[in-house]
Amino acid sequence: MVSKIRDGTVIDHITPGFGLDVLKILGITGKAGGAVTAAMNVDSKGLGHKDIVKIQDRELKPAEVNKIALIASKATINIIRNFEVTTKKKVELPSTIRGILKCDNPSCISNSREPVQSQFAVIQREPIRLRCSFCGHIMEREDILKQF
Ligand SMILES: [Zn+2]
Repeated sequence: MVSKIRDGTVIDHITPGFGLDVLKILGITGKAGGAVTAAMNVDSKGLGHKDIVKIQDRELKPAEVNKIALIASKATINIIRNFEVTTKKKVELPSTIRGILKCDNPSCISNSREPVQSQFAVIQREPIRLRCSFCGHIMEREDILKQF
């Protein structure tokens, strides 16, 4: 069903239904770059179902892998070169998220002119729930997706 790719990245074990959100968070629209394949609700050995995304001719950078963890905390990243998996790693959602997201609260100090890096504590992993370390504002999945 999903053809092998020669070079690129395969994102596996994405929570079913979250595959398109992974593309969104990576800024992949399919209008530029190599071929992109997304498979939804595929049978996963002993794990029910999953989504898979294959991105041809693009190797994800560590910063991009960290973003995926926000949406699909169980995903695995496979970097493919010449049809072989050269790197395989699980995404890791740290307990504190720094700098990637903006706090939704406009009066939060992290949104002032002061150079303050945003910081959120992860209070729930999937679906994700974050709490701003400065103002206590809670951000959920949909709030996070709006920023990408
Ligand atoms: Zn805040």
